[in-house]
Amino acid sequence: MRVIVIGAGPAGRFSATALKAMGGEPVVIEKDFLGGECANKRCIVEVSLAEYAVTLDVTEKMGLEPNAASFREVMGELRSFRDMMRAFFDMQAKESGMEEIRGEAKLIDPKTVEVNGEMVKGDAIIIATGSRPLVPDIPGMDLDGVITYHDIIEMTELPEELVVVGGGAVGAAYACILGQLGSKVTVLERFKVLGGFDHDLRDYAIEQLKSRGISIFEGALVKEIKGGSRVESLLAEVDGEEREFSADCVLFATGLIPNSEIAKDIGVKIGERNEIIVNERMQTNVDGVYAAGDVIGPPFLTPVARREGWVAASNIMGKDVRMDYSLIPHFVPLFMEFSSVGLTEEEAVAEYGRENIAVLMMPPAVPYPSGCRSIWLARLDPRLTGMMKLVLERKSRKILGAHMASYTGKNAMHYLAALMKRGFTIDELAEIIEVYPDNDLFPVMAKMMLGMV
Ligand SMILES: Cc1cc2nc3c(=O)[nH]c(=O)nc-3n(C[C@H](O)[C@H](O)[C@H](O)COP(=O)(O)OP(=O)(O)OC[C@H]3O[C@@H](n4cnc5c(N)ncnc54)[C@H](O)[C@@H]3O)c2cc1C
Repeated sequence: MRVIVIGAGPAGRFSATALKAMGGEPVVIEKDFLGGECANKRCIVEVSLAEYAVTLDVTEKMGLEPNAASFREVMGELRSFRDMMRAFFDMQAKESGMEEIRGEAKLIDPKTVEVNGEMVKGDAIIIATGSRPLVPDIPGMDLDGVITYHDIIEMTELPEELVVVGGGAVGAAYACILGQLGSKVTVLERFKVLGGFDHDLRDYAIEQLKSRGISIFEGALVKEIKGGSRVESLLAEVDGEEREFSADCVLFATGLIPNSEIAKDIGVKIGERNEIIVNERMQTNVDGVYAAGDVIGPPFLTPVARREGWVAASNIMGKDVRMDYSLIPHFVPLFMEFSSVGLTEEEAVAEYGRENIAVLMMPPAVPYPSGCRSIWLARLDPRLTGMMKLVLERKSRKILGAHMASYTGKNAMHYLAALMKRGFTIDELAEIIEVYPDNDLFPVMAKMMLGMV
C-alpha cells in the first residue's frame, strides 16, 4: 500500500513510521523541515526557553548569583540546538529508508499529489499539514515588533516592554519566560487567563506570575497597535475603559488555525474553524483521504497529533482503530510545570453534583516540598511548594481529575490518565509504593488524606 503523507510534523512522521512498520510504503512530502512546527518553532523552542527561565528563577530565589548569559547568546544556542535536531531528523529519515520529497504539495485528486511540478500517485493520502497562528485583524499589525510564537526562535534582542495578547497556554508561558529573562511584561486577555485550568491551580499560577512582576488584565479587548515603523504602544479596552500600554514588542498568542486549504479542491469537508472534518478513524468524507494532527482542529497537542497519525495509518493498513479523546493530559511550562488530566472541580460539580464530589488538596504554603527540586525552595518561601489537587467521586472513590504545579512531576499525568481510564480509586492510589523523594506527591497525599474522604 503506497500512502502519500503530506507534512512531516508529529502527525505526519508518526503516521509514516506506523505505515512502514505495518508493511506499507509511505511517501512523505514536506515543504519546510522534518519535525514540523513542533520541533522547529513551537514545543521545543518554548520548553527549552522555559527550562532556562525556570533555572534562572530558582537560582535567584535561592539567592545565588544567576551569572546569566545574554539573551543573544541564549537564542544563538537555541538555534544551534534546533539545527542539530533538524540534522537528526534528516538522518533518521534517511536511515529508515522512507521515501521523502521536499516541496509544497498540492492535491490534484484523491490519489494524486503535485509536488515540484511532478505528479505523485498513491493508494491513499494522509493530510497532516498542521496549523498556523491565528491573529486578529486590527490596525498596526504590520508594525515591526508585532510577533507570534513563529518569530521567537529568530529573536536576538529581548523586548524591554512586552505586551502579550492572549493568556492561554502559549501566552502565559511566554509571558513567564520573557519576564524571567528581563522584559517588563503585561498580559491582556479577553476572558480569563489560563481559563481552562482548575480554579485553584489557576489562582496559584496567577498569584505567582504577579509576584514575578507580570501585570495581568482580564476582560481586555485590543483595539490598535500604535507606532511609526515600530511598535510604541497598544490601545485596548479594559472592562469598558480605553487604556494605552507602552510596548516595544507585542506578542500575539491568540490561537491557531488549521492549514486545511489544501483539501478544499478535492471536495474534503471543512468545518467552521477551518478544520478538516474526520470520523474517529481519521477518514474524511472523500474515500481514501485521511487527515490527522492540528489540521483537524483542537486540542492542538503533539501526542494527540502523533496518535491520530497512528490511527490513520492503522486504518489504511486494514486495522479497525478508533481515536479516543478521553483523559488527555496536558501541561503548561510556567515557573513550574502546571499539569492536569481529567475534570476540574467545577466540571466535576457540574457533571456529578457538589454533594457527590470530594476534593483533596495539598495547597501551596504547606511547608512541604512539591517533590524534587523544591526541597530548598519550600524552606525559603512556603508559597513555592507547588500544589496538588485530586477531584474524586465520593461514592465510588474514583479519581476524576488530577491537577498539579510542581517542578518535575508532570509525567505522573500520563500514567494517572491510563489508570483513571480503568476506574482508578483513591484507595488504589494510596497502595502505590512510590520512589522517594518523589517528583509528584499524589501517592503520598492519598496515604495521608485517605481518611478525609
Ligand atoms: C508555541 C506553541 C507551543 C506548543 N507546545 C506544545 C507542547 O509543549 N506540548 C504539546 O503537546 N503541544 C504543544 N504545542 C502544539 C503542537 O505544536 C502541535 O499540536 C503539533 O505541532 C501538531 O503537529 P502536526 O503534525 O499536526 O503539525 P505541524 O507540527 O504543524 O507539522 C505540519 C507540517 O506540515 C507541513 N506542511 C504544511 N502544508 C504543507 C504542504 N502543502 N506541503 C508539504 N508540507 C506541508 C509544514 O511545513 C509542517 O512541517 C504547541 C503549540 C504552540 C503554538
